[in-house]
Amino acid sequence: MRIVLLGPPGSGKGTQATLLVKQLGIPHISTGALLRDAAKRGTELGLQAKALSDKGELVPDDVIAGMLEERLGNDDVRNGFILDGYPRNLAQAESLTILLERLDQPVDEAILVDIEPHHILRRIAKRAQEEGRSDDTEETVRNRLRVYANQTAPVADYYAERGLLTKVLGDGSIEEIFQRILSILNLGEASS
Ligand code: AMP
Repeated sequence: MRIVLLGPPGSGKGTQATLLVKQLGIPHISTGALLRDAAKRGTELGLQAKALSDKGELVPDDVIAGMLEERLGNDDVRNGFILDGYPRNLAQAESLTILLERLDQPVDEAILVDIEPHHILRRIAKRAQEEGRSDDTEETVRNRLRVYANQTAPVADYYAERGLLTKVLGDGSIEEIFQRILSILNLGEASS
Protein backbone atom coordinates (compact mmCIF):
# COMPACT_ATOMS: atom_id res chain seq x y z
CA MET A 1 0.00 0.00 0.00
CA ARG A 2 1.33 3.45 -0.95
CA ILE A 3 0.13 6.16 1.36
CA VAL A 4 0.72 9.92 1.38
CA LEU A 5 0.15 11.46 4.82
CA LEU A 6 -0.74 15.14 4.73
CA GLY A 7 -1.28 17.62 7.53
CA PRO A 8 0.10 20.82 9.01
CA PRO A 9 3.24 20.86 11.16
CA GLY A 10 2.31 19.53 14.58
CA SER A 11 -0.70 17.56 13.28
CA GLY A 12 0.87 14.37 14.62
CA LYS A 13 1.28 12.80 11.18
CA GLY A 14 4.84 11.70 11.99
CA THR A 15 3.58 9.82 15.05
CA GLN A 16 0.78 8.26 13.03
CA ALA A 17 3.25 7.25 10.34
CA THR A 18 5.35 5.45 12.96
CA LEU A 19 2.29 3.52 14.16
CA LEU A 20 1.31 2.65 10.59
CA VAL A 21 4.79 1.32 9.90
CA LYS A 22 4.39 -1.14 12.79
CA GLN A 23 0.93 -2.17 11.61
CA LEU A 24 1.68 -2.49 7.90
CA GLY A 25 5.37 -3.40 7.86
CA ILE A 26 6.21 -0.90 5.15
CA PRO A 27 8.80 1.88 5.44
CA HIS A 28 8.16 5.40 6.67
CA ILE A 29 9.71 7.92 4.32
CA SER A 30 9.93 11.36 5.91
CA THR A 31 11.67 13.98 3.77
CA GLY A 32 12.14 16.13 6.91
CA ALA A 33 13.90 13.23 8.66
CA LEU A 34 16.07 12.57 5.57
CA LEU A 35 17.11 16.24 5.62
CA ARG A 36 17.80 16.26 9.37
CA ASP A 37 19.91 13.14 8.91
CA ALA A 38 21.89 14.78 6.09
CA ALA A 39 22.45 17.85 8.30
CA LYS A 40 23.64 15.67 11.17
CA ARG A 41 26.11 13.98 8.86
CA GLY A 42 27.30 17.46 7.86
CA THR A 43 26.79 17.03 4.09
CA GLU A 44 26.69 20.23 2.06
CA LEU A 45 23.10 19.52 1.03
CA GLY A 46 22.13 18.85 4.63
CA LEU A 47 23.67 22.06 5.94
CA GLN A 48 22.09 24.19 3.19
CA ALA A 49 18.73 22.56 3.89
CA LYS A 50 19.08 23.19 7.63
CA ALA A 51 19.56 26.91 7.07
CA LEU A 52 16.19 27.00 5.27
CA SER A 53 14.40 24.60 7.64
CA ASP A 54 15.48 26.64 10.64
CA LYS A 55 13.62 29.60 9.15
CA GLY A 56 10.56 27.48 8.36
CA GLU A 57 11.13 27.76 4.62
CA LEU A 58 10.88 24.91 2.14
CA VAL A 59 14.01 23.38 0.69
CA PRO A 60 14.17 23.71 -3.15
CA ASP A 61 12.08 21.14 -5.03
CA ASP A 62 15.00 19.72 -7.03
CA VAL A 63 17.02 19.00 -3.88
CA ILE A 64 14.15 17.08 -2.30
CA ALA A 65 13.18 15.34 -5.55
CA GLY A 66 16.69 13.90 -5.96
CA MET A 67 16.76 12.70 -2.37
CA LEU A 68 13.32 11.15 -2.61
CA GLU A 69 13.99 9.42 -5.91
CA GLU A 70 17.08 7.83 -4.41
CA ARG A 71 15.09 6.65 -1.38
CA LEU A 72 12.28 5.25 -3.53
CA GLY A 73 14.87 3.28 -5.46
CA ASN A 74 15.58 1.11 -2.39
CA ASP A 75 14.27 -2.45 -2.41
CA ASP A 76 12.34 -2.03 0.84
CA VAL A 77 9.64 0.10 -0.85
CA ARG A 78 8.51 -2.72 -3.13
CA ASN A 79 5.51 -3.52 -0.92
CA GLY A 80 4.61 0.11 -0.39
CA PHE A 81 5.55 3.06 1.78
CA ILE A 82 4.21 5.84 3.94
CA LEU A 83 5.27 9.21 2.66
CA ASP A 84 5.35 11.94 5.30
CA GLY A 85 6.24 15.57 4.52
CA TYR A 86 6.14 15.17 0.76
CA PRO A 87 4.59 16.56 -1.43
CA ARG A 88 4.74 20.02 0.13
CA ASN A 89 3.54 22.04 -2.87
CA LEU A 90 1.73 21.46 -6.17
CA ALA A 91 4.93 21.13 -8.21
CA GLN A 92 6.10 18.35 -5.89
CA ALA A 93 2.69 16.65 -6.11
CA GLU A 94 2.94 16.67 -9.89
CA SER A 95 6.51 15.34 -9.95
CA LEU A 96 5.59 12.62 -7.46
CA THR A 97 2.75 11.47 -9.71
CA ILE A 98 5.14 11.32 -12.66
CA LEU A 99 7.88 9.54 -10.69
CA LEU A 100 5.49 6.94 -9.25
CA GLU A 101 3.91 6.34 -12.65
CA ARG A 102 7.37 5.65 -14.00
CA LEU A 103 7.98 3.19 -11.13
CA ASP A 104 4.50 1.71 -11.71
CA GLN A 105 3.65 2.41 -8.07
CA PRO A 106 0.90 5.03 -7.96
CA VAL A 107 -0.40 6.49 -4.69
CA ASP A 108 -3.29 4.44 -3.26
CA GLU A 109 -4.44 6.81 -0.52
CA ALA A 110 -3.77 10.38 0.56
CA ILE A 111 -4.80 10.98 4.18
CA LEU A 112 -5.10 14.48 5.56
CA VAL A 113 -4.81 14.83 9.34
CA ASP A 114 -7.08 17.81 9.83
CA ILE A 115 -6.48 19.90 12.93
CA GLU A 116 -7.31 23.31 14.39
CA PRO A 117 -4.43 25.82 14.80
CA HIS A 118 -4.72 26.04 18.61
CA HIS A 119 -4.13 22.28 18.91
CA ILE A 120 -1.11 22.65 16.64
CA LEU A 121 0.63 25.26 18.77
CA ARG A 122 0.13 23.16 21.89
CA ARG A 123 1.54 20.04 20.26
CA ILE A 124 4.54 21.82 18.82
CA ALA A 125 5.38 23.34 22.20
CA LYS A 126 5.33 19.81 23.63
CA ARG A 127 7.52 18.45 20.81
CA ALA A 128 9.98 21.32 21.25
CA GLN A 129 10.49 20.19 24.86
CA GLU A 130 10.71 16.49 24.02
CA GLU A 131 12.79 16.51 20.83
CA GLY A 132 14.58 19.84 20.85
CA ARG A 133 14.14 20.35 17.10
CA SER A 134 15.84 23.55 15.95
CA ASP A 135 12.81 24.51 13.80
CA ASP A 136 10.27 24.35 16.63
CA THR A 137 10.88 27.90 17.89
CA GLU A 138 7.84 30.18 17.99
CA GLU A 139 8.85 32.39 15.08
CA THR A 140 9.77 29.45 12.86
CA VAL A 141 6.55 27.63 13.69
CA ARG A 142 4.55 30.69 12.68
CA ASN A 143 6.37 30.76 9.35
CA ARG A 144 5.92 27.02 8.85
CA LEU A 145 2.18 27.41 9.36
CA ARG A 146 2.13 30.27 6.82
CA VAL A 147 4.08 28.18 4.30
CA TYR A 148 1.69 25.29 4.93
CA ALA A 149 -1.40 27.43 4.30
CA ASN A 150 0.02 29.01 1.14
CA GLN A 151 1.86 26.13 -0.47
CA THR A 152 0.95 22.78 1.09
CA ALA A 153 -2.79 23.05 1.74
CA PRO A 154 -3.52 23.02 -2.05
CA VAL A 155 -1.89 19.57 -2.23
CA ALA A 156 -4.92 18.14 -0.41
CA ASP A 157 -7.13 19.51 -3.21
CA TYR A 158 -4.79 17.98 -5.78
CA TYR A 159 -5.46 14.51 -4.32
CA ALA A 160 -9.16 15.24 -3.73
CA GLU A 161 -9.56 16.05 -7.43
CA ARG A 162 -8.08 12.65 -8.23
CA GLY A 163 -10.44 10.88 -5.82
CA LEU A 164 -7.58 9.81 -3.54
CA LEU A 165 -8.07 12.05 -0.48
CA THR A 166 -9.65 11.15 2.83
CA LYS A 167 -9.68 13.56 5.78
CA VAL A 168 -9.21 12.37 9.33
CA LEU A 169 -10.20 14.46 12.31
CA GLY A 170 -6.89 15.29 13.97
CA ASP A 171 -8.08 15.96 17.51
CA GLY A 172 -8.26 13.28 20.18
CA SER A 173 -5.68 10.86 21.47
CA ILE A 174 -2.95 9.34 19.31
CA GLU A 175 -4.78 6.00 19.51
CA GLU A 176 -8.13 7.52 18.49
CA ILE A 177 -6.61 9.17 15.44
CA PHE A 178 -4.77 5.96 14.59
CA GLN A 179 -8.04 3.99 14.69
CA ARG A 180 -9.61 6.54 12.33
CA ILE A 181 -6.76 6.06 9.90
CA LEU A 182 -6.98 2.28 10.11
CA SER A 183 -10.68 2.38 9.32
CA ILE A 184 -9.99 4.47 6.21
CA LEU A 185 -7.56 1.79 5.15
CA ASN A 186 -10.19 -0.88 5.92
CA LEU A 187 -7.96 -2.21 8.69
CA GLY A 188 -10.00 -0.96 11.64
CA GLU A 189 -11.40 -3.15 14.41
CA ALA A 190 -14.86 -3.09 12.85
CA SER A 191 -13.57 -4.21 9.48
CA SER A 192 -10.98 -6.79 10.59
P1 AMP B 1 9.09 18.04 8.56
O1 AMP B 1 9.92 17.11 9.38
O2 AMP B 1 8.28 17.31 7.51
O3 AMP B 1 8.26 18.96 9.40
O4 AMP B 1 10.11 18.97 7.73
C1 AMP B 1 11.01 19.85 8.37
C2 AMP B 1 11.55 20.86 7.36
O5 AMP B 1 12.27 20.18 6.32
C3 AMP B 1 10.50 21.69 6.63
O6 AMP B 1 10.08 22.82 7.36
C4 AMP B 1 11.25 22.08 5.36
O7 AMP B 1 12.19 23.12 5.62
C5 AMP B 1 12.04 20.82 5.06
N1 AMP B 1 11.25 19.90 4.20
C6 AMP B 1 10.79 18.66 4.54
N2 AMP B 1 10.13 18.11 3.51
C7 AMP B 1 10.17 19.01 2.51
C8 AMP B 1 9.65 19.04 1.19
N3 AMP B 1 8.92 18.02 0.71
N4 AMP B 1 9.89 20.15 0.43
C9 AMP B 1 10.62 21.17 0.90
N5 AMP B 1 11.11 21.22 2.14
C10 AMP B 1 10.90 20.15 2.94
